[in-house]
Amino acid sequence: MKRYPLTYNEFKKELTEGKFLGLRCLECGIIITPPISVCTSCGSSNLEITPISNKGKTKTFTVIRVGPRGFDTPYIVAMMELEDGPWVVGNVLGVNPDEADMDLIEKEVSIGYKLLPYNDAEGGVEGIVLTFTPRN
Ligand SMILES: [Zn+2]
Repeated sequence: MKRYPLTYNEFKKELTEGKFLGLRCLECGIIITPPISVCTSCGSSNLEITPISNKGKTKTFTVIRVGPRGFDTPYIVAMMELEDGPWVVGNVLGVNPDEADMDLIEKEVSIGYKLLPYNDAEGGVEGIVLTFTPRN
């Protein structure tokens, strides 16, 4: 079986080194990130690694007031549309969750990352979450 062009761990490692990567479908042309094994549009596994822009716009968000153990609440979870097309989920930084309102919709953001603490329930694998910082 063909090896995945970009594993989640490779994606994570590159992100922590400042490279935001995705996969371009060689059948239909869409870009996917974080990486998965098949195209979300056409199902093809004919994918190649491509660098993608770390800029996007907020499409929707919610404020989390009761979070998983180890998380400081409240915090904002949002969906962003990246300049290169894919929609990604992550946490908004630099905005007070108690003051977040519709002004956050369509806000231009820069994408970064935050490492999550080791989670025994996931076999001790260090997680990563995308972060969104509004640009002014
Ligand atoms: Zn495709």
